[in-house]
Amino acid sequence: MSNIKIMVENMTCTGCGECYSVCPHGYIFMKQGKLGYPVPHIEKCEDCGICLEKCPYSNFLDPDDEEGAAT
Ligand code: SF4
Ligand code: SF4
Repeated sequence: MSNIKIMVENMTCTGCGECYSVCPHGYIFMKQGKLGYPVPHIEKCEDCGICLEKCPYSNFLDPDDEEGAAT
């Protein structure tokens, strides 16, 4: 998985909205999440990886998680 779904799943997302701004296809929308603020949701994705690359917090991810490996 190379999109920011993993940020939401890991509760690492701060809701900053950067990913929403950069998806070249407009596939990301912000929706109220469990954490009490809007977080990104994706229904369709070309897997280009731009949103995850531009997320200012994605460098805090465990690299194994980013590969989709079980922990
Ligand atoms: S750029 Fe990262 S921290 Fe900001 S809303 Fe998107 S996933 Fe969350
Ligand atoms: S991986 Fe690319 S197409 Fe998919 S949501 Fe992120 S920026 Fe958009």
